[in-house]
Amino acid sequence: MISENFTTKPLVEECIRLSISDIEDLDTSSHFIDLNEQVVGLTRTKCYFGSERVWFLCPACNMRIGMLYRPPLKQAFLCRHCHNLTYELRRYHRSRQESAVKAINKLRYRKI
Ligand SMILES: [Zn+2]
Repeated sequence: MISENFTTKPLVEECIRLSISDIEDLDTSSHFIDLNEQVVGLTRTKCYFGSERVWFLCPACNMRIGMLYRPPLKQAFLCRHCHNLTYELRRYHRSRQESAVKAINKLRYRKI
């Protein structure tokens, strides 16, 4: 069933987004990065051929993530799940799905 608060969730598209690949001059040996008054942990994974990939650690849930989000009127950069964000397109699909369910129910309970 479609949750009532789904349409009230903040959108990813409204947030300031910060990708790990956007950070230039990243100190490859550092375990933290300072994002203007917020320190965020970093972790690394080994890739094939000896290279490694750097990830953010979400300050709230400590999950390894490639993108941080800061919604309007919020101070902290966190992962999408911790900010309870959704995508605009997903909201659109949900509303279409909801309309389809209503139409089916309308047909189902129509008086003959
Ligand atoms: Zn998180």
